[in-house]
Amino acid sequence: MKQVRASLGTLAVLGMELMFMDAPPTTAYLQIFTDQRCRANCLFCSQAKDSKGELKHIARGQYLPADLEEVVRRLGIAFEKGYLHRACIQTAMYPGMWEDTVYLIGRIRDICSIPVSLSVFPLDDAKYRTLAGMDVDQLVIPLDASTPELFHSIKGEGAGGPFSWDGHLDGLKRAAVVFPQVGTHIIVGMGETEQEVVELVDRLHKMGIHAALFAYTRLPGTRAVGDTAVNAEPDIGHYRRVQMAAYLLRNDRVRLDDMVFSGGVVSYFGLEEQDLKAVMESGEAFMTTGCSNCNRPYATETHDPVYNYPATPDSGEINGIKQQMETVKEADMEHGL
Ligand code: SF4
Repeated sequence: MKQVRASLGTLAVLGMELMFMDAPPTTAYLQIFTDQRCRANCLFCSQAKDSKGELKHIARGQYLPADLEEVVRRLGIAFEKGYLHRACIQTAMYPGMWEDTVYLIGRIRDICSIPVSLSVFPLDDAKYRTLAGMDVDQLVIPLDASTPELFHSIKGEGAGGPFSWDGHLDGLKRAAVVFPQVGTHIIVGMGETEQEVVELVDRLHKMGIHAALFAYTRLPGTRAVGDTAVNAEPDIGHYRRVQMAAYLLRNDRVRLDDMVFSGGVVSYFGLEEQDLKAVMESGEAFMTTGCSNCNRPYATETHDPVYNYPATPDSGEINGIKQQMETVKEADMEHGL
């Protein structure tokens, strides 16, 4: 029986697991199956070569082994019924990963036309064309880090990993030639400044590459990024300001030059106070970002604080966000507004 990993929430939507969900996933989160450790060595990853963490973990998500044929059969039904709108396939680096990836996408294509995202490390152009030929519409190459230096220390040579910042950027640029949509993941809370993340989001946006934001989660068994303790969580104010700035840039509401940073912290977003307040009250800026229909419920957070809202925040949650953003208003006043 060929296996695939699927997140607990995905298995619950497919009727293969029992679980209460206040925000069910709108994307099926899958990973090609291996019982080996990944050959890459990202510090934050539970599946990494030198990690002592459990293979079932991708961030806080539990990706359990399941019967591939049954998952794909039910995925077709869930797509038809409008329960799931996308299939997201995570990979790992091991011998045979390419064959397993093509096999899984092929089985999904045999059953249905659900949009497919593939999250992978840089591949050669021939493989990109093969994937595009199988209607993979979103190719994602996670940078994870916001600067070349941080990249080096968390997933490059500094971490005993095979990757390089330039290699990943080159992979993204080449993918942008082949795929309708190209994206990356940026993990916030690994010691970067807000300015560093926001400048990267802006640079990628100008290249037509969308950046999905993740909150750093230190998992048991993984090596520390900096001196973070197990289960450490990013400062919520830091995360909210990054979300707001990224949202305004992604939607061309402001230009990077309109923003002001004080000591690397966003102290002015480039919007008048009432306009900023209106954006805050819509809640959109604080929702999960990434491929279309990707809501990743509680992938990098528990219920408090929620970093990425999987659904539009309600008025109570918006009030909470306002308090978290309060530091901003003070800065605006300081800015003389
Ligand atoms: S943004 Fe979401 S759907 Fe896209 S690759 Fe990342 S986790 Fe998957």
